[in-house]
This record gives sequence, structure tokens and C-alpha cells, in this order.
Amino acid sequence: MTNLTMLITEGKGKRLYATDNPDEAIVSYRDETFAYHGLKRGRIIGKGEINNLICEYIFTLLTQKGVPNHFIRRLDNRCSLVKRVEIVPVVVKVRNIVAGSLAKRIGYPDGTRLKNTVVEYCLKDSELDDPLVNLTHITAMDIATAEEIQRMEELSLRVNDIVGECMREISIELIDFKLEFGRYKGAILLADEVSPDTCRFWDARTHEPLDIDRFRHDLGDVEEAYREVLHRLTGNVLKQSE
Ligand code: UDP
Repeated sequence: MTNLTMLITEGKGKRLYATDNPDEAIVSYRDETFAYHGLKRGRIIGKGEINNLICEYIFTLLTQKGVPNHFIRRLDNRCSLVKRVEIVPVVVKVRNIVAGSLAKRIGYPDGTRLKNTVVEYCLKDSELDDPLVNLTHITAMDIATAEEIQRMEELSLRVNDIVGECMREISIELIDFKLEFGRYKGAILLADEVSPDTCRFWDARTHEPLDIDRFRHDLGDVEEAYREVLHRLTGNVLKQSE
């Protein structure tokens, strides 16, 4: 068992613990699920273990493809060792197809293919509902430099290409996703997670969501959808009881 005694912070889908090494931390993925900024809560049984395995797979792929990220190694079913970064309080959203808040904002139906990839920045501030901001807001607030944001955007587009291709190979369409980045020894690293909690994955044939939208919109078969993504990615079949 991994020693989880020094809690640093608790997020929606994860808890972060300190280790004896100040440069490292342990992320523990949770089954608890939150939507609509915490207004809707629930549990997706097995989600923590599934997301831990999906993140191990995706971060390992991104490392192989040269995208610097915080992942070091998986420790057990639920926990992974990561580099302890200082999170940049700006979330990057990348969109290939219209869904969610973009559909509402621009009045296009869900599923509309965008002529080019859309990149958005949001403040990481749940009390303000993570508002959409632009580069001049970010530099005016002095929360990140223009160079840091440029690097985050460049890495986000590479993640879109790499994860998009990987998903296409398993008949899943990458609709959109959000990323968080951290500062670590003078560099910007991809941090947080890349999982069905943070990405919209649609089955390429049926266009059924295989992600957190099944929970948000009460579509049922939530656990099954997470298991399906893991199974298609890795061949891993986690049993209900694990
Ligand atoms: N997203 C996320 N956490 C959030 C908000 C959004 O991981 O707190 C992800 C979401 O799952 C989707 C992408 O970011 O893959 C774009 O989300 P959107 O802005 O459409 O917001 P949503 O409709 O998810 O609230």
C-alpha cells in the first residue's frame, strides 16, 4: 500500500499527497464525481482505478512523443507518482467539435465540426465558475507570462494531435478536452489528468459519449463507458470488484 498521510490538496477527481521528496507528489484518483461546479455529486464505482490506468497509458504515450509532463510512474491501482509542480491557474480547453459550453456560447448544435481547432483559456477559479479569459487578461492579472501561455498552447495542440490519433485508432473521436500545466524547475509541464473526466470521447460509429457527460446528463452506463475506454486503449479488463 502507498503511504498517503500528507494531504496537500483535494480536487474534484483526485487527492494529492506529499512524499519525502519535495520534488514529487502522489496523486490518488477518486471514484467521487462532481459536475456543474460541484452542484451535482455522485460516485462512479471503479473510476479512480480506471482513470489511474488511462492516465498512465496516455502520459506514457505523451512522454514517448516528447510532450513534457508530470507523470513518473504508477504506484498501485489508484495512485501514481508525479513531479510536484506549481499549477498555473489557467485552464486550456482545446476543441475539435462543438459541444458543452461552446454550443451554448456560439449557438451551434452539438457535434458541429469546427473549421479549425479552437483553443480557449479559462481562469482556474471555481468561485467564479472558471471564466473564459484571453491572453491580455492573463498578462494583465500577472498570473502567467505570454511565453508561458504560448508554450501551454503549443503543448496543448501537440496533445490534441497525439491523443486524437491514438483515439481514432480505437474508434473514439476526441471532441474536446481541458488541460492544466505546472511550473517545474523553470519548465512548463503538462500536469493534472487526461481521462474521461476531462475529455469528451465519442464512439466514432454511434457518437455516444464515453465520458463524464454520461454522468452529467444521466445517460446511464457510466462505469461501462469508462471501462470501455480503458479496454479499447490497453486491452485491460478491470472487473467490477477490483
Ligand atoms: N472540462 C473539465 N472540467 C471542467 C470543465 C470542463 O474537465 O471543470 C472539460 C470537459 O469535460 C470538456 C472540455 O473541458 O471535455 C470543455 O468543456 P466545456 O467548456 O464545454 O464545459 P462543460 O460543458 O464541460 O461544463
